[in-house]
Amino acid sequence: MKKSDESSIEVKDRKRILVLGGGFAGITVLKRLENKFENDFTIDISMVSKDNFFLFTPMLPEVASGMIETRHIVTPVRAFCKRARFYEAAVRSIDFQKRQVTISNVTDNRNELANWHDHTLDYDYLVMSLGGETNFFGMEDVKKYSYTMKSLGDAIVLRNHVIDMLEQASIEQDRELRQSLMTFVVVGGGFAGVETVGELNALVRDAVRDFYHDIDIKDVRVVLVDAMDKILPEVSADLSKFATQKLKESGIEIILQSPVSSATMYDVKLKDGTVIATHTLVWAGGVTPEKLVKELQCEHDKSGRIIVDGYLEVKGIGDVYALGDCVSITDPHTGRPYPPTAQNAVEEAKVVANNLISAIRGGSKVSFNYKSRGIMAQIGKRKGVGILFGIKTHGLLAWMIWRAYYLTHLPTLEKKLRVSTDWFIDLFFKPDITRLKIFTENQEVQTKSFSDTVISKDETKSETT
Ligand SMILES: Cc1cc2nc3c(=O)[nH]c(=O)nc-3n(C[C@H](O)[C@H](O)[C@H](O)COP(=O)(O)OP(=O)(O)OC[C@H]3O[C@@H](n4cnc5c(N)ncnc54)[C@H](O)[C@@H]3O)c2cc1C
Repeated sequence: MKKSDESSIEVKDRKRILVLGGGFAGITVLKRLENKFENDFTIDISMVSKDNFFLFTPMLPEVASGMIETRHIVTPVRAFCKRARFYEAAVRSIDFQKRQVTISNVTDNRNELANWHDHTLDYDYLVMSLGGETNFFGMEDVKKYSYTMKSLGDAIVLRNHVIDMLEQASIEQDRELRQSLMTFVVVGGGFAGVETVGELNALVRDAVRDFYHDIDIKDVRVVLVDAMDKILPEVSADLSKFATQKLKESGIEIILQSPVSSATMYDVKLKDGTVIATHTLVWAGGVTPEKLVKELQCEHDKSGRIIVDGYLEVKGIGDVYALGDCVSITDPHTGRPYPPTAQNAVEEAKVVANNLISAIRGGSKVSFNYKSRGIMAQIGKRKGVGILFGIKTHGLLAWMIWRAYYLTHLPTLEKKLRVSTDWFIDLFFKPDITRLKIFTENQEVQTKSFSDTVISKDETKSETT
């Protein structure tokens, strides 16, 4: 059927597929459906996501360290939409009975906010791939005073804050205050936390060595804290040990079996009573489904993740699929839930796309039975750890494999070239310590005495967003 014939198909004869969330899972489903239904205009495909871009999260810590330019790890969702409709909007509610999703505008245009209103989308098939949000385990103070590492905005804000701390420490005469400005605490020994602490440590140490001659490198303290007894629980015990040893060798202090109990603007307290004076707490303590997902009228596990059957259909609800970080699926190979990784989200998406196409066109459904081919993490400058096809690797080789693997998985040739160029340039030049203050002309620039008022996270955020 030709494109010009699209309008001649009656709405009632169309099957409407609605994909919620433009992350690893959603984009993979979208791409597969578009390929399959490229010329079939009886199929209507729409995607809703609150950002108009797909974010390649494994490289987010490198954006925070400035190794990769901000826009090089994002791709506009519309670049994937050959004929699908895209709505940059927030999903507000999902009604499985009426087969309707309510969305609302996501806009920076505050002056006209009063004009924005909700919209309703009908569907015949629904794909829910809404990811998750940072889990603070109910600690409101930690939420208030910590930096997160989940979105592009998070990486930009953290980078600016770290450079700000370097600038403030370079003026500061009070040794104790200078040390607390130069203390950086990352909580969470999973991939996000470990990769973030590695990048942050490299940025701070390189910057002090190359540019901040007033700061004594001995005052720099980078700490990784985790409640468990080891980091990177996804890898084997000896690889985790190796990663721990390498992080320590690069100057990172590791505190294990010590959950955080509270935080203020000036310090972090651990359950065992330890208090670390710091102005930088980065929270990468895990993800949890957002409230909307937790409150859906379907089965959930105890953390609020949606329970799906082997075909990744939501139990007891017809024609609704769920996948990625917002679901809980038991791995038949380990008996434990699949960890929330991009790799699993992409593999789940292949199964969902296949089963959806089978449901529409007829064909056999497949169940999700994925055995991970490997797992890799970078742990700082030119070092990595991982298991690939059962073989353990570490050091420079693991780091090179990590880079090659993720580079091939970046969505477009343009982004691959841009990121490779960033990496290449980094081999020869000093880190870029430009701190971006984004003020409009009518905003006043405030000056403060640092010892009177410490610049807060919220102020830093408002400067950069
Ligand atoms: C710093 C960091 C490093 C990581 N490193 C690795 C790694 O090295 N390897 C690995 O395998 N995994 C890694 N991960 C984990 C990986 O990013 C996730 O497992 C993966 O993104 C899950 O895919 P998803 O599609 O389920 O969710 P996401 O990719 O999070 O996508 C969810 C999408 O839904 C949208 N959305 C959410 N709520 C709404 C709403 N209410 N309305 C509209 N849209 C909404 C979001 O904007 C987003 O586009 C890392 C994660 C982080 C944060």
